[in-house]
This record gives sequence, structure tokens and C-alpha cells, in this order.
Amino acid sequence: MPQSAITLQEVEELVASRRGAASFPPALEARYERESGPRRARFLARIALRSAVIYNLFLVCEYLLAPDMFMVAAILHLCVVTPWMLFVAHVLPSVSSPKWRESLATSITLAIVAQILVIYCLTTSPFAARYIYFAPVTFLTLTSVQRLPVVYGFRLAAAVFLMMAAANQLRGGMQFEIALANAMTFACIAGAIINSNSLVSREQRRLYLLSVRDQLRAELSDSDANADALTGLGNRRYLDKRARALWAAAPMQVAAIIFDADHFKSFNDAYGHTRGDTCLKRIAACATAELRESSDVAIRLGGEEFLLLLVDTDAEVAEIVAERIRATIAALGIPHEGNPNGVVTSSFGVASVSTRAATLEQLVEAADAALYVAKSAGRNRTQRHDMLRHPVAA
Ligand code: GH3
Ligand code: MG
Ligand code: MG
Repeated sequence: MPQSAITLQEVEELVASRRGAASFPPALEARYERESGPRRARFLARIALRSAVIYNLFLVCEYLLAPDMFMVAAILHLCVVTPWMLFVAHVLPSVSSPKWRESLATSITLAIVAQILVIYCLTTSPFAARYIYFAPVTFLTLTSVQRLPVVYGFRLAAAVFLMMAAANQLRGGMQFEIALANAMTFACIAGAIINSNSLVSREQRRLYLLSVRDQLRAELSDSDANADALTGLGNRRYLDKRARALWAAAPMQVAAIIFDADHFKSFNDAYGHTRGDTCLKRIAACATAELRESSDVAIRLGGEEFLLLLVDTDAEVAEIVAERIRATIAALGIPHEGNPNGVVTSSFGVASVSTRAATLEQLVEAADAALYVAKSAGRNRTQRHDMLRHPVAA
């Protein structure tokens, strides 16, 4: 079952805390970025393309408000800023670093504002004071459409503010009162947009947090329903699920190991059910230690009987694995006076089939028949089904 780096309890605590959505722990932040980053990059790329079209419509305004600099404006539009916007739109979907992604997005506003300010400084048009309004309008529009993160919004606002102040200084002629009123208007509207971006982002992150919580809850209840409560191994339901997937995949060799604790009734009788339970847990752990976690399947069939499915494994290798588990269980040295060996032991039956040639039921039947022989032959041993003198058909 897939493991998440963040636990359900951590997420529940974040949901309950007021600032939970504002600051995720690193593992959740990384997961959020992994899941939402590519979509955001594509969104910003689309915005860059659309902005390029709208930006070039501005040429009409430049023709009307700064006609003396129209040729310079057209060259800056078509040879510098628009190619940069197209470049940004092209590379954004493949940018994986959030820092670079947001920086590239802000660079579009910077490029457009710089172009506007160059024309503003150079033009002798009487409409120059109107023309410079395009700079803050560009910032305000793009920042709200791009939904820039708060830090980038602030940095960009400061940069645009300083660029406009420098341009006004260079060009001169603007009255102090008007410059101050403009600056205050810009600061207020920029603050409102950055704040609204922050609220939207907080809401998105909160929704994400709730979706992760629901997902983790579902995973947990799913794993509960698939697990054996005593040993933590899978149960029959889990076996059905995994077997269905194995048999539906490309044909392969699957081995089954069935093993059963020897004389376990007498263990319970001598030491009590609670110690019996502890013993079963330790036996189960010996088995899982030998398996490949990602592909093999370990099931408690019931009582003191277990089934292991080994993917891509023939009977010879499965027998080696079974022997290793058998030796580990005996080496635990759990005293068992009703067992001729004096310690807890188990008997093993092994079979292997191609999923093309036999069903799960036939495989289990064959391994079970081999286990029966191992029990009859004295217990604490492994029997391969294909080594039986009259193997049951499988
Ligand atoms: P054999 O070597 O032939 O397998 O003998 P056995 O005594 O192990 O087999 P039998 O089927 O006669 O008894 C199985 C015993 O396993 C019965 C019961 O006391 C014990 N058992 C089954 N499930 C549990 C369990 O969940 N906890 C404990 N502690 N014991 C269990
Ligand atoms: Mg038994
Ligand atoms: Mg049994």
C-alpha cells in the first residue's frame, strides 16, 4: 500500500490550526508543488501568450499618445518584449523550479514596464503624463491575472515603483503633489491586489489540504479493510485484490508458499492464547522479512496458517525462501514443550505456476497438498509440490 511522507494525524492538525493552509510542512509543500506546479506553469504560459496579443494592441495607444516615439516603441514591442514573452511561454511548461517559474512570470511585467518607461523618458509628446499610466496598469492587471504569490507580488510592486520613480526623475517635470498622489494610489491598489492574491492562494491551499486529508483517510480505511488485525499482514480480501491484478498482468511465474505453525494447539494450551498471539506475530514478521515489499504478497489465511505469493519466482527459488523462513522461525527459539524440537517450528508447502496455465485456486491447492505432505513427514520441513511422487494437477 502506498506510503505518504505526511501522516493523517499531521494533516488533521493542520486542518484544525488556523494558519494550517498558510505554511505547510516541507513534505506537504513538496507534494503540493509536485501536484499543482505543472498545472500552474501551463497556466502562466497561457497567460504569457494572451498578454503578448493584448500588449501589442497597445501600439495603437502609443501611436496616439507618443507618436514621435512610435517607431522606437514598435521596435521594442516586436524585437524585444514580444520575443521575450514568447520565449517565457515556450519554456514555462518545462520549468520545474517554483522560484524560476514565478520569476519568469514576473519578468513579463518588468519587460513591459521597462519598455513603457523608455518611451515615456524619450517622448516629447504633451500626452506623456497620460502615457505613463500604462506602467502601473500593466503591473496591476498582470499581477492579478497571474495570481502571483505574495512575496513575488511585493517584490514586483517595489521594482515597478522604483522604475517609475527613476523614470520621473530622469524625465523631470512632474509636480510633487501629483507624483505623491500617483505613488499613493499605486501603493493602495497594489496592496489590495497582493492581498486578494494571498486570500485566493490561502483558499486553494486549504482546499488542497482537505483533499489530502480525505485521500489519507480513504487510504487508511482501505488498508484497515485489507489487513489482518493481529499480524498486520494482508487478509483474504487483499489476496483477492492482489491476485486479480497479478493474473490480469502479462503472464508470469508465481510461487505460493503456505506454512502452518506446528502443534500450535498445544502451544496455546501450555502458554495461553495471549502468548500464542504474540508468537503468531513473530512468525509473521519472519516471513515478511524475506519478501520483496513492493511485489510479493503475505497473507494470514486464518488461525496459524499463512500464504505468501512470490512474483516471478519458480519453485526452486521459492523453496530456498521457504527454508530461510523456516530456519528463522526455529532460530527464534520460542520454547514449546509440546513440539518434539522444544521450540516453535512451522511446516511449509511450496508450488509455482505460470499465471497463463493455472488459477490462484489451483496454485494454492498445490501448495496446500505439499504442506500436508510436509506435516505428515514429521513437520518443521519444506515440501515442494513438483517433487511429490503424485503431484496434484496444477
Ligand atoms: P499441526 O502441526 O498439525 O498444524 O497442529 P496444530 O495444533 O497447529 O493444528 P490444529 O489445526 O489442530 O490447531 C490449530 C491451533 O491454532 C488451534 C488454535 O489453538 C490455534 N490458533 C488458531 N488461531 C489462533 C489465533 O488467532 N491465536 C492463537 N493464539 N491461536 C490460534
Ligand atoms: Mg498448525
Ligand atoms: Mg492449521
